[in-house]
Amino acid sequence: MDIAADPSHPRYASLLRRHLIETAAAEGLLAGSAMIAHGRGEAYDYLLGESTSASAARATAEAWSRLRAAAHPVISVNGNTVALAGRDLLHVAAALGCPIEVNIFYRTEARMAALIGRLEAWKEEDGLDVDVLGARDDGRILGLEGPRSRCDARGIAAADVVFVPLEDGDRCEALVAMGKQVLVVDLNPLSRTARTATVTMVDDVGRVALAMRNLAASEGSRGPSDTWNNDAVLQEALDEIVAHLTSKFRNV
Ligand code: ATP
Repeated sequence: MDIAADPSHPRYASLLRRHLIETAAAEGLLAGSAMIAHGRGEAYDYLLGESTSASAARATAEAWSRLRAAAHPVISVNGNTVALAGRDLLHVAAALGCPIEVNIFYRTEARMAALIGRLEAWKEEDGLDVDVLGARDDGRILGLEGPRSRCDARGIAAADVVFVPLEDGDRCEALVAMGKQVLVVDLNPLSRTARTATVTMVDDVGRVALAMRNLAASEGSRGPSDTWNNDAVLQEALDEIVAHLTSKFRNV
C-alpha cells in the first residue's frame, strides 16, 4: 500500500483497488478465486485505458433509467462488488428505495455473515434506510441447481430488474430466461455475462457505482430507451480497446 499512498503514481487508482481487495480478503469477505477474477478485470481495464468510455457512461445512464422505472428493482452484490463498490451501491439502493442482496457463488455462512455485516456497518455509519437481504435463501433461480440457484424470495426472486455487477454467465442467462432485465458490469466485453445481459456496463465496478451514485444525487433521468442495442455497446467497447491500443503503440 506504500506505493498506492502516492497519488502521483501512474497506477494509483489501480493500486488502491488492489488494496481494497486485499483488505476484504483479510476480513474473510472473499472467495479464494476472487483475486483471479479481479486480475482478469484489471487486464481488460488496462486495455480500455483505465477510464470510463463514452459508451460505458451511456450504458450506466441506461441502467439507472431502468432501475428508476422498475416496479421491483434489486441490487445483487458478491464479495468483490462489496469490496470495491459496496458503500456507493448502498447509496444507490437508498435513492431507489430498493433492497441490496448479498448473493455469492461459493456460499458459506461465515462469508455471508461477514458481507452482510460490512454492508450493515456502512449503512449505519451513513444513516441509510436500506434492506440488506441474503441471510434467507427461500427463493430460487430457475434452471440452476444447487447453491447457485438460491436467492432471497423478497429480493432477486421478486425483482423485475436486477442490477448485478460481476455476475456469472450461467446465472445471468438463467435470470434473463426468467424474464428479468439484468444489468451487469463487466470489464470483459466478450464474457458470457456481458453478451447475455440486457444492459452491460463495460467499466470498473467502482467507477460505475460512483457514477450511479452521482446520477442518483443529481435527480432527473430520462426514461429507458426503446431501442437499446446491447450488442452495439459491446462492439463500441471492442472498438475502444483497439483505438486505445493503437494510440499507445503510436506513442511508444
Ligand atoms: P462468464 O461466466 O460471464 O463468461 P468468466 O467466467 O469469464 O465470466 P469470472 O471468472 O466469473 O468470469 O469473473 C470475472 C469477470 O469479472 C471477468 O469477466 C472480469 O473482466 C470481470 N471483472 C473483474 N473485476 C472487475 C471489476 N473491478 N469491474 C468490472 N468487471 C470486473
